[in-house]
Amino acid sequence: MQSDPQVKCICKPGIMRDNCPSCEGTGQMIDFRAIRNRKTQEQIRESITTKFSPIITGYSPFFRNVLQVMLGNREQWVTEKYCGFYITSDGFFLGRTLNSFKDSFIGRVDDLTRNLNLIINEAKLDSEETAYLNSLPNIQDWRKI
Ligand SMILES: [Zn+2]
Repeated sequence: MQSDPQVKCICKPGIMRDNCPSCEGTGQMIDFRAIRNRKTQEQIRESITTKFSPIITGYSPFFRNVLQVMLGNREQWVTEKYCGFYITSDGFFLGRTLNSFKDSFIGRVDDLTRNLNLIINEAKLDSEETAYLNSLPNIQDWRKI
């Protein structure tokens, strides 16, 4: 699925390149087929949810809660305790409940990452799905600021 950015276009610099539909003036071939085949974020979430559903009960209610939030609450995998999660700048994972303004300390983000890798492998997610999940969607990450 990944397009190779190193493939040079056969057009010559100048007017030919400026009007080149294969590289759109960049000099590097653009893999339009791969771009067209790229799944939308919604399709990726749906696909991950479908792959997780048969195996999700093998994971803890807490982890199911995390995945449920990450995937936008499409499935009710657990009676949700936490409605939101975030990661502190020093790598700790915290959860927020609906009925409390106080955040709960959960653990180190490394544990989350380790569990994510387990389920990614078990569910055989493709590279797009893996990248989506590893971006920790719907989790506010203060390490990135
Ligand atoms: Zn070209």
